[in-house]
Amino acid sequence: MKQSGQMKSCSLLILIAMCFCCSSAFSQENRITDIRFWQSPEEAQIVLDLTWTPETSPVRAMEDGSFFFDINDGNFRPGQKTFPLNNAFITSLKVQEYPTGIVRISFKLPPSVQYKNFLLPRASSKPDRIVILLGESPTAQAQRRNDEQLEISRLKSQNVKIVVIDPGHGGEDPGASHSGIVEKDYVLRMAKLIKAYFDKDPRYKAVLTRTGDYIIPLQRRSQIAEQLEADAFVSVHVNYNRKKHIRGTEVYYESNRGAVGEAERQTADQENQQDLIGGVYDSYPQIKNKNNFLKQQAANMFKSSQFADKMDQCLGSAIQGLPSAGVKRAGFKVLHSVSIPSILVELGYTSNPTDSWYLRNANGQLRLAYSVYLGVKNFLEGKIYDGIDTNYLQFASNVEHEKKVRAEKNRVSREKRAAMLRNSQAYKVKKGDTLKKVASKFNVRVNTIIEVNSLGKRRNLKTGELLKIPMMAQNKRKTDKNKIT
Ligand SMILES: [Zn+2]
Repeated sequence: MKQSGQMKSCSLLILIAMCFCCSSAFSQENRITDIRFWQSPEEAQIVLDLTWTPETSPVRAMEDGSFFFDINDGNFRPGQKTFPLNNAFITSLKVQEYPTGIVRISFKLPPSVQYKNFLLPRASSKPDRIVILLGESPTAQAQRRNDEQLEISRLKSQNVKIVVIDPGHGGEDPGASHSGIVEKDYVLRMAKLIKAYFDKDPRYKAVLTRTGDYIIPLQRRSQIAEQLEADAFVSVHVNYNRKKHIRGTEVYYESNRGAVGEAERQTADQENQQDLIGGVYDSYPQIKNKNNFLKQQAANMFKSSQFADKMDQCLGSAIQGLPSAGVKRAGFKVLHSVSIPSILVELGYTSNPTDSWYLRNANGQLRLAYSVYLGVKNFLEGKIYDGIDTNYLQFASNVEHEKKVRAEKNRVSREKRAAMLRNSQAYKVKKGDTLKKVASKFNVRVNTIIEVNSLGKRRNLKTGELLKIPMMAQNKRKTDKNKIT
């Protein structure tokens, strides 16, 4: 278990004793291979890596106040292990294998902590995982929010600008790793350097979305900025491309498609969504007026675009040998804020030898950090034009129109199908019948029979099966001559 500063992570590799003998009947392939612990100031996570997709029992409480749940048909090589974590979120964790193939996970929590456990399906290089999410109680949360609000009011009254710096990735999600640079660690270091410049400037208050090695759900990152009523949000990343010649700094702001997707998502029910890599989304508040929401997005995009331009100018001239690859747009989830000008900076490509040299160089790091500080400062202290990204509103209206056209088309075809079903008669398939033969016999199109009978991709008919044959005006006369069975 490794603990340093605000970061508390423990990687407990469980692959031990190859000669470990076990004679139980459950699958030897189903193993818990690793157990990790991540902690942020607001929450903690216990992550269990598994070699299979498990079935688990519901969580139950024990008499001594601890909790447990069972993982079926699995094994845990050490047989039994207790982790005395003993911190603000968890007192202890015990993993115990039973001969029946059950692995019991029991944990004891301080009274103010709440838990939530869920399965994370395998994603890219990550295996199936069980996550136990531990969070502050609502009372502790409310207290913290209250303190935060007081601090925000104080800062606003003194005209201090709040800047949220978001070191990308973290914890379960390492980001791009290349040339000795692990993105999650690198961008955390860079974010701290950027913050240090703001800390020297009394007109600014810089806040990091994470201060250690833990994951924060993507949506939560922009939420932090919104809760703090920040003046600007910058997500910090480094890039990777298999094509090594691709290089340079990049600045992103929200794309049309990303913003429309967000508007769509926020009008739909988003309960229980899970991030693919780790963490959970909070549910979205339901949007009452979509048009107003789109306008808010368009207004914020207009500002974000000015922010991106200012940042690009500063980043592009930070280091002579590190060129700017320009301002780009993408539907990154961290850029979805509708009220805070938000950008994402890629400080260079770890896959490009020249870029990565500058990225690793201490002087290069200082220059890059200073230029991010300068980009924010130039944006917030310069003239910020109010306006609307009309291009986005047009795009959103086109998407809305296409959606309506599609819905109308679906409605018409549903009605057509219903009408055909109302006027259909049954036909029992005879030996040797094919779709084509039946269609020709009743003077209907093959596709009509497929559609009415919901045959999908099936084209062969089974002798004796009943087909519905729509009785349309043009085939009425012909079918009179055919015997319907
Ligand atoms: Zn990244």
